[in-house]
Amino acid sequence: MDRRTALAGLSSLSIGAALGSLGDARAAHGSADRTPGKLRKLATEEAFTVPEVAEALRRVVRAGGSNLDLPVLATIYDAPAGTQPRFLSELLDVDERRIADMDRHGVDVQVLSLTAPGVQMFDADTATSLAIVANDRLAEIVRRHPARYAALASFAPQDPARAVKEMERSITHLKFNGFIVNSHTNSEYLDQPRYWPILEAAEALDAPLYIHPRAPSDGMAAPFRDYRLEGAAWGYGVETGTHAVRLMLSGVLDRFPRLKIVLGHMGEALPFWMWRLDFMAAPGARAAGRTNQLKPSEYFQRNFTITTSGVEDPLALRYCIDKIGADSIMWAIDYPYQPTAPAVSFIESAPMSEADRDRIAYKNAERIFRVTARA
Ligand code: MN
Repeated sequence: MDRRTALAGLSSLSIGAALGSLGDARAAHGSADRTPGKLRKLATEEAFTVPEVAEALRRVVRAGGSNLDLPVLATIYDAPAGTQPRFLSELLDVDERRIADMDRHGVDVQVLSLTAPGVQMFDADTATSLAIVANDRLAEIVRRHPARYAALASFAPQDPARAVKEMERSITHLKFNGFIVNSHTNSEYLDQPRYWPILEAAEALDAPLYIHPRAPSDGMAAPFRDYRLEGAAWGYGVETGTHAVRLMLSGVLDRFPRLKIVLGHMGEALPFWMWRLDFMAAPGARAAGRTNQLKPSEYFQRNFTITTSGVEDPLALRYCIDKIGADSIMWAIDYPYQPTAPAVSFIESAPMSEADRDRIAYKNAERIFRVTARA
């Protein structure tokens, strides 16, 4: 029986029912006729660098030491001739291969940020001036490609007063979309009072602070020195998740209740930890003589947004949608460290409603980073 025969055999009632259910399917899944290439995509954790910062990182590598970021930095910034991996040239390129890669895979916008560890391994003066150089350069990049890039500002936590000045300049003058910080600075964390001016400025400027990973701080480094545990496989998430838990348990979010924080890598595993954090945090705080206004899960819901960078697991995403809601999740690639094609295929095909897909692929990023379509 061919298709026409089959259709002719249907009563008008059953055809109507069939069309009705097709309509229901459309309503449930948004535009059912969408082809994958038409989904708007804003990638929110995309790395770049400038030659001055790359050169300064090469000097840090050559100075040596025990810092756990050094092994990865050595492979990127001080590789022996002929063995250099592709990352450095891709980090430096914003006009050619990067845009070709975005075009090839239908990525509309990359939210650019200075790659980890940013300026956080330099002395305070060098860090402060290189943050300004990187931000000025990033502003020029966005001016050259206003429809393709948005920008997160760097600052030097080593000097909180000058960091605040640069944070203000980058939002009010350079019109950036938020801030990036790469977890600890000299093994210190943002909940410590000397860094409160930075949190206060981010809140006052109403711009999100993306806490991006770097390797574990000195005090917890030892077990991560084996098996390359310090990096993306495990250490980055432990370090950055710990930073976020410190912000939640320290009570600092009672002081800055409107602070917006973004975490990559599917929330650095924290959505999975919410029940246990809630169960255990209150007795811990009482024992320490401290009372926080909210439970960890309530701070997480109020103050945090996560991105999917580097975790292209549909089940992990499903869990996060159910746990914290699709409004709190943004798509990211982690270019150039992660390949674009599978990140795109992930957001285009992971099981979720089409309304949620629109939120995660671009709508949340447009709202949270205030990305407007720029001609
Ligand atoms: Mn990254």
